[in-house]
Amino acid sequence: MESNPSIEKATFFCPVCNAITESVLLFSYQYNVNYQDELQGSGINVELFKCLNCGNPILTNEDYLEIEGEYFPQNKFVLFPEKESAFVAKAPKSIINSYREAEKCYKANAYEASVIMCRKGIDAICVEKGEIKGKLLDKLRNLKDKDLLEVTFFNWANRLREFGNIGAHSHDSEITKEDARDCLDFFEALIMYLYHLVNKYADFLKRKDLI
Ligand SMILES: [Zn+2]
Repeated sequence: MESNPSIEKATFFCPVCNAITESVLLFSYQYNVNYQDELQGSGINVELFKCLNCGNPILTNEDYLEIEGEYFPQNKFVLFPEKESAFVAKAPKSIINSYREAEKCYKANAYEASVIMCRKGIDAICVEKGEIKGKLLDKLRNLKDKDLLEVTFFNWANRLREFGNIGAHSHDSEITKEDARDCLDFFEALIMYLYHLVNKYADFLKRKDLI
């Protein structure tokens, strides 16, 4: 890279400080660098920052284009610390554990294992909601019949259950990265719906004296 794109200081949300703090750049490097000629190219820039308040490390990743010596950053995101949705943290422990495990598997490219953990998490949700007997499909259907699960969520959960079955029992069908991502996204959406939105709505009704 012709020019140094890195700013020496930046502000990030620091989870240790639980605040937006100033950070200082310690190190950076570029990879996937591809130059058409001396002045035009692209690559990925990784930067390591240190929170000036507590010393916590923050690692970022951004795509960049360089055109006639000018640096254009794109899609910057934080690689570390990983942020977990606040509503996931509010879910019961058995469900959080499955979710974190599924995430871990996904990041390790273990897609089948990730889908199986998602299925386990869905089962944990059913149990937590009082459905302890029968097959997962029956439990989900009961939750739908009790109006705890909207029909779209039921259909989606059912698909995920099928994926989980493929992961657990089939040696022929392959679980792709996209399948695993879909399962994780759905699992997260289900947690948000059942342990965040539903409670939020109840709080709203209470606050407005509607119940
Ligand atoms: Zn900090």
